[in-house]
Amino acid sequence: MRTPLIAGNWKLQPPTRAEARVLAAAVVSGTRGLAGREVVLAPPFVMLTTVADAVVDSLVRLAGQNLYWENSGAFTGEISGPMLVDTGCQHVLVGHSERRQIFGETDYAVAKKVGAADACGLGSILCVGETLEQRDSGDAMLVIEKQVRRGLVELTTEGLSRLVIAYEPVWAIGTGRTASPDQAQQVHAGIREIIREVASSEVAESMRILYGGSVKPGNIDELMACPDVDGALVGGASLQADDFLRIIHFQES
Ligand code: PEP
Repeated sequence: MRTPLIAGNWKLQPPTRAEARVLAAAVVSGTRGLAGREVVLAPPFVMLTTVADAVVDSLVRLAGQNLYWENSGAFTGEISGPMLVDTGCQHVLVGHSERRQIFGETDYAVAKKVGAADACGLGSILCVGETLEQRDSGDAMLVIEKQVRRGLVELTTEGLSRLVIAYEPVWAIGTGRTASPDQAQQVHAGIREIIREVASSEVAESMRILYGGSVKPGNIDELMACPDVDGALVGGASLQADDFLRIIHFQES
């Protein structure tokens, strides 16, 4: 059995730590007593300590939105894995499509980051996904396979057991368009097959594969009904406490 994981990626929001504190507190209070689900929040770096304080004694866990692969040195503007651990993070997003597309992050950089996260005990949430052009030309699974295989090259066997993969079709992120449950299931099952080949059946069966891309209260139930969808990476809707809580409490009513 894979425990469903719902992660909120706040991106470059909210604007103030006071708002971050209120949002995190609402998630904490709406998940009290929640069983059989994991909840992760990924706020901006400068809000990590604020959110860490707000989620003390709750089941909400913290993630960084990015990291650099060196632990220290002359790398202005970067944050290391050990710094994230020191701030209370257990997870880190790696290779989000906004990082790949806007900041030019390559598969090489993604692999180095996944390896660095593993080395300090952080579980990466490795994001993969195709553009609309790649889907329309029939290359979606090829692109995803390359991203998954290349993303794992620096990972130890132990690290594989901590890894979470997020399938996020680029055309669905922040656009209001969502992959249909059939489209999501097909890709998730394909990713699980790749993990079976790269690692083992045991690792493949226990790995969580999240769906991300305009997940909302209105589509989470059908997405979570897919056998290979083990949770969601939520952007926009994670900034509205009520929406995010409805997503966390999927299929409960
Ligand atoms: C994301 O940021 O990973 C994401 C999926 O965003 P949204 O839910 O807004 O599409």
